[in-house]
Amino acid sequence: MIQLDGVSLNYKNDVSLLDNVDLYIPQGSFCWLTGPSGVGKSTFLRMLHLEKQPSTGLLTVLDTPTNQARRSTLCRLKQRIGIVYQDFKLIPNLTVFDNIALPLRLQNTDEDTVQRWTNRILGWMGLEHKQHIYPKTLSGGEQQRVAIARAVIHRPDLLLADEPTNALDEHQVKRLMDLFYDLNDLGCTIIMATHNDSLIRQFPAPRLKLENRQLWTSDAV
Ligand code: ADP
Ligand code: ADP
Repeated sequence: MIQLDGVSLNYKNDVSLLDNVDLYIPQGSFCWLTGPSGVGKSTFLRMLHLEKQPSTGLLTVLDTPTNQARRSTLCRLKQRIGIVYQDFKLIPNLTVFDNIALPLRLQNTDEDTVQRWTNRILGWMGLEHKQHIYPKTLSGGEQQRVAIARAVIHRPDLLLADEPTNALDEHQVKRLMDLFYDLNDLGCTIIMATHNDSLIRQFPAPRLKLENRQLWTSDAV
């Protein structure tokens, strides 16, 4: 589960994004994250990915209290999380294959498994023919698919996705949702930020709405 107890989230320059928020997300949930542009959705996802600490309050991620946690605990915890960044953040000096394989290698997975799992997801994403090239020559849609593959390759227990469908066509969006639903069926908690209301209508799920520095929850519409 994920739990926030009295969490506030600020940037040092006085930008305040969350104010004293309590929230509980049970393990295995799938929810949309919505709210106006600039309200703090990306920063909230980065906080759940342990890149940014709450300014005040207690944050529990995958049943682990993070506030007083040791660095080694946070590193292990982070390996159980997958993230699709809005701007992809592919690593420029790694090939497509090595970008996707990264989370497995960070877990010291044996190389046979790395090859098998990475090749399987490359095939599923239709990216086999691009596996040896570097991210900068890929189209936006291809980069987004690499970012998605990298976020799910290690079967995370928590998947954070920031507008992961922006650069995809309708068919690819359907496949992405199938992939996310499969992962969710395996018990993965998924939080997916989007501006796309028709996507939410097409794939109903509870909603977390970030507005006025609060996170409001509502049932599937
Ligand atoms: P959203 O994803 O909802 O569009 P963001 O989390 O990207 O919102 O940004 C929320 C606010 O925080 C914006 O006003 C943005 O300008 C500000 N912000 C984002 N990153 C930083 C940063 N590194 N330092 C200071 N302010 C930031
Ligand atoms: P450190 O622990 O030294 O801070 P990390 O292991 O967090 O480094 O990450 C090293 C690099 O790999 C970073 O650029 C990070 O963004 C990227 N990275 C790590 N894990 C993932 C992941 N699961 N998905 C995407 N990128 C990741």
